[in-house]
Amino acid sequence: MALDFDVIVIGSGFGAAVAAIDQAGKGKTVFILERGVWWLTPELSAENPMNPFLKTQPVQYWARPDHRRGLVDFLAVVKENGVAGALQDFANGVAEFFTDKPRPRPLYRYNTFGEADVISASGVGGGSLIYSNVTIEPFFDTTNKQYPAMASWPEKAKLLPTDYANGLTWMTTNRGAPNQVVTKYPQAIPQNQLKAVNSSDPRLLGRSRFLRDASTSPNLSPQLAGQIVEPWAPLKLQIKEADPGNTATSKNFCERQGRCFLGCLPAARHTLNKTLLNQLPLAAQDKVLIRALANVESIEAIPGGGYTVHYTGLDDDTEYHPTAKAVILAAGCLGSTEILLRSRDKSNGKLVVSKTLGTKFSTNGDFSGFVTVDQDKLQYPIYTTRGPINTSHVTFRDGKLLVNVEDAGIPAMFASLVEKTLKMLEQDKGQADVIDILGLLWNSAQLPDYSDPNDMQTEAEMLMNTCWFNCMGMDDATGVLSLDGDDLQLNFTGAIAKHPTFQKAESVLQELAKAMGGTYRAFPLWHGLEPFVSKKLVVVHPLGGCPIGGSSTDGVVNSNGQVYNTTAGAQTVYDGLYVLDASIIPGAVAVNPTLSIVSMAARAAKSIA
Ligand SMILES: Cc1cc2nc3c(=O)[nH]c(=O)nc-3n(C[C@H](O)[C@H](O)[C@H](O)COP(=O)(O)OP(=O)(O)OC[C@H]3O[C@@H](n4cnc5c(N)ncnc54)[C@H](O)[C@@H]3O)c2cc1C
Repeated sequence: MALDFDVIVIGSGFGAAVAAIDQAGKGKTVFILERGVWWLTPELSAENPMNPFLKTQPVQYWARPDHRRGLVDFLAVVKENGVAGALQDFANGVAEFFTDKPRPRPLYRYNTFGEADVISASGVGGGSLIYSNVTIEPFFDTTNKQYPAMASWPEKAKLLPTDYANGLTWMTTNRGAPNQVVTKYPQAIPQNQLKAVNSSDPRLLGRSRFLRDASTSPNLSPQLAGQIVEPWAPLKLQIKEADPGNTATSKNFCERQGRCFLGCLPAARHTLNKTLLNQLPLAAQDKVLIRALANVESIEAIPGGGYTVHYTGLDDDTEYHPTAKAVILAAGCLGSTEILLRSRDKSNGKLVVSKTLGTKFSTNGDFSGFVTVDQDKLQYPIYTTRGPINTSHVTFRDGKLLVNVEDAGIPAMFASLVEKTLKMLEQDKGQADVIDILGLLWNSAQLPDYSDPNDMQTEAEMLMNTCWFNCMGMDDATGVLSLDGDDLQLNFTGAIAKHPTFQKAESVLQELAKAMGGTYRAFPLWHGLEPFVSKKLVVVHPLGGCPIGGSSTDGVVNSNGQVYNTTAGAQTVYDGLYVLDASIIPGAVAVNPTLSIVSMAARAAKSIA
């Protein structure tokens, strides 16, 4: 039987980009299926609609008003998976009926589960469209010469420093060189001197400076100070930084607009939509094709070799069934696991996969919280809305626990909401309730008092005394993804919120706050909003579901990403069926994971003939 393509790649995020570029480079015909659309900035840039190929593609533009009105545009492109999502679908249907205008396609997927909510992306370029550009490897223990985060992983899954070096080379060659952006204006401090900044330097962005000062403060308890295994350092970011001495960098560089995860207006971020456009012959539309708005349901093995991929065109509501010799699943942690679960269930026993499918889901220890400082104690304004979203980090180690703390920006369109929510939670001794929320909405609708300077602040001023911190840690990967009918479920063995990694992260933030004379404020879903939630996690770095194992007894794929073809006890694999994305990482990495995903995928891709 003649097959349509050599390879079908499902998804267009990190694992998919590595796979597609590798396979196209090997001369294969490649068909990329992505459920989302192309996302662009309207500003003149490498990724703007001037590119003739994009004129043939479904394109949408980032939500832009940088004040609270922007929230409405933002919310219109968030798709929730539960009741709110169903209501949104209904409202969209009504709006389309009356206006005859198509509603926007989602960029964000907000996946609500019982104990943790998981945020993922939907668009050409996957998570790179909404991520914070951080490109780092996990903490490496130079004494034992190992990554402690991987201690419990199957031996073959463990990544080595050489794998990370290759991953970084892939990022640099196919995307762009990473930069460190911790200063208020480009190159205020030369890149090679940034790590050596050891005083409270006013050229640093307020929140980079705040994390540096908090982690080196003499007020920090000696016990916590002794747990710092990686002192304050700027993060490597996939962002272009201007060089004032070089006029060639005068466009598409970081302007500190503080909106990376909403979409960068000057297009300074090295997002994967640009990578795919630049590195693949997409415009030729012969050897490499990309189909946006293609929602993949399942994969079916063809007797005699090859696979059929079943997908629905979201633009024409039509079912398609292309075939290929090989299929590379790279639809992300939730997407790939869901597709493989559904393919197994639909196959009537013909697709036999490891019984570990769905297991080893990890939250990556994701945790976040705020620190506020009273105006009279504030040594310098923090201005959380400015700068790239994450700029610098510090790593703490307490026995087996690792906590990576990063300062985080809050886009201006969220400033008013965050400021008011924190005030509301501050006044409340216990949990907030519905009356508080209604009060908050009512107050937001009021005009400011024009005689009070504090009542007519810019978005930056609203958060001048507020720091937001993102933490990552080790959670033992006890989550299990499963299908209930067509709905993806996530459950944990034991209450995940009680895992010590979250208690540790919270206590680190409390101590950092104390060292700076500030107050720790819990993230609203963790703090609690009665009667809705309490101690709920929000996960942005989900991992696992199709974990690498030494055999099908402890994993779904081998270290090359090939899917095992028994439920347990074997090394044999399906010819041409691969998973290459966050879902194969068999546990937390305790840092932002994309460099690990790319390193793992690049290592595996070498073996795909
Ligand atoms: C707000 C935020 C900030 C983040 N910041 C960072 C950071 O700074 N550094 C970092 O390392 N990580 C960061 N991450 C995490 C990072 O984005 C993910 O780890 C990464 O994108 C996962 O890569 P992936 O290849 O597994 O899949 P993804 O990049 O998620 O790509 C999967 C793709 O598959 C598509 N897809 C899914 N299901 C289907 C289907 N059924 N049919 C067709 N297509 C499908 C999706 O639309 C998506 O485009 C962040 C995440 C979020 C949400």
